[in-house]
Amino acid sequence: MKTPAGKECKYYYGDFHRGRNEQACRLIERNPDSPPWQPNLCNTCPVPDILRANASDTLKLDGKVVKKFFGFKQQVEVEGWCSECFNPVPNPMLGCQNCAKKSGPSILDLKGSPE
Ligand SMILES: [Zn+2]
Repeated sequence: MKTPAGKECKYYYGDFHRGRNEQACRLIERNPDSPPWQPNLCNTCPVPDILRANASDTLKLDGKVVKKFFGFKQQVEVEGWCSECFNPVPNPMLGCQNCAKKSGPSILDLKGSPE
């Protein structure tokens, strides 16, 4: 679904039908430690870009609202982890480097012989 910032995001949910005005972020919602989500957080949220750069099923994201600039500004902060090897993924844009190494298919393997 498209976020208020105009980007496609699988965690954003919006329902404006028949006078309804419900918006939610499924990513923040499932984190009980996070302050509440607000629609304007989508403007600076890195998640849509991460999802576009890395569509891997094994990349799992945990999101949280953090306060910046003495609480004047709020921002979504994301941590990635890999559901295949259960290691943290420091750069979710690139995905899990552990699993990328040990299992293909990668561009480099295309010409290799199958086992
Ligand atoms: Zn992994």
